[in-house]
Amino acid sequence: MSVKVCKFGGTSMADAGVIAEVKKIIESDEERRFIVVSAPGKRYSGDSKVTDLLYKCHEELKKRKNCKKSFEAVRSRFTDIAGRLNLKLDINAVLDETEERIVKENSEQFTASRGEYLSARIVAEVLGAEFIDAEKVVFFNEDGTFNGERTYREISAAVTGLKKAVFPGFYGVDPEGRVRTFSRGGSDISGAIVARAVHASLYENWTDVSGFLACDPHIVDSPKGIKTLSYKELRELSYMGANVLHSESIFPVRKANIPICIKNTFRPDDEGTTIVPTSRYIPSGNTVTGIAGKKNFTVIFIEKSLMNAEIGFIRRVLSVIEDERVAVEHIPSGIDTMSLLIESDELANYKLERILDGIKYAVEPDIIRVIENIALIATVGHGMSCSVGTSARLFNAIAAADINIKMIDQGSSELNIIVGVKNDDYERCIRAIYQEFFVNRGI
Ligand code: ADP
Ligand code: ASP
Ligand code: MG
Repeated sequence: MSVKVCKFGGTSMADAGVIAEVKKIIESDEERRFIVVSAPGKRYSGDSKVTDLLYKCHEELKKRKNCKKSFEAVRSRFTDIAGRLNLKLDINAVLDETEERIVKENSEQFTASRGEYLSARIVAEVLGAEFIDAEKVVFFNEDGTFNGERTYREISAAVTGLKKAVFPGFYGVDPEGRVRTFSRGGSDISGAIVARAVHASLYENWTDVSGFLACDPHIVDSPKGIKTLSYKELRELSYMGANVLHSESIFPVRKANIPICIKNTFRPDDEGTTIVPTSRYIPSGNTVTGIAGKKNFTVIFIEKSLMNAEIGFIRRVLSVIEDERVAVEHIPSGIDTMSLLIESDELANYKLERILDGIKYAVEPDIIRVIENIALIATVGHGMSCSVGTSARLFNAIAAADINIKMIDQGSSELNIIVGVKNDDYERCIRAIYQEFFVNRGI
């Protein structure tokens, strides 16, 4: 029998009512055997996510040596959930132990991980399934990278002979035995890891929207849904800000060709989005698949006559940035010009100043200029490489909305075109692109 791994996100864990729906979803398909859960998310707009409450606990712990006050809010979320579900689990005892260990470990990542731990304890009880602690089976290396080989081996051994099991997402353990977390939204990665370890036929990611939408629903009202995405398109869209799925969650499943399906816990019969290996992707005929973006980039613009003839110019510029351990997102370049696009947060603590001085010293540019508050918007789709005039349509739509494009980068894969605009123009620009490719002229 094939096996499905299901990851349920924060809104799917938010209260007892939704958890009861989650139980129905799992029990409606006997292939849904391995479950990965997030910490409870927001129940309504303005509510707090449990993970955010836990980060507050750590702040309190740093100041007062205990986290009594902040932990109360966490305690009340879980006693409410467990109380309404009529569990046998003594949730107060589990919460007491958790609070004690938070104080003892005194680590932000450990504290943050407890939302997933507690969710998984509850869901395991609700399903009558085994609880497998990620602390025992998900491993990080010394340098913080994920240790796949050991993790897949341990998960596979842990599930042997089990009919159903529940794993907490978001965390694992380092070689010193300390709990550490993935970056925010990382339960998606945990789900992909379990899917790979148990050789799942499908990785179902259950969230609060009916799949991947053509753009962020906070920006465009009810954007069109995407039926099928390739791994490559997913990577581009999620990396560029479509955070419905963590951008790193494709790596474990891609190697094993496991498709991902994004489904809506609140509308389980909706088809959702299927993400398939690029080789198995059948183009839908749409020019553009989706649009995503991120704000707050800084551009360092460099101009020097005969730059292209100066051997080693780009290497010298990049080594200045490497010395500051800063990642460069894009490097659009012309004959005598190059621009470096960097996330503004990376340049705090005088790194920008040091980089500018370093570049001036290393390559003596004619002009070096900094442009801040830039947003990047990626328009993505396999269909773009085979339809003539896509870039013209894109740029015309942006110009018609009276938005000034500060930078253009078209990757050689022709899978995407990235434009840089002012932060203030970000939402308007996404709406203009959406209008052009999804509304005005059909798709
Ligand atoms: P979960 O808690 O289930 O992991 P997330 O909040 O991480 O859920 O991701 C789902 C949210 O992602 C949606 O509620 C939606 O607001 C947001 N989102 C942003 N861009 C997109 C997109 N292109 N398609 C679908 N959802 C998107
Ligand atoms: N709870 C974690 C977060 O809020 C991880 C996750 O939900 O995927 O980031
Ligand atoms: Mg998420």
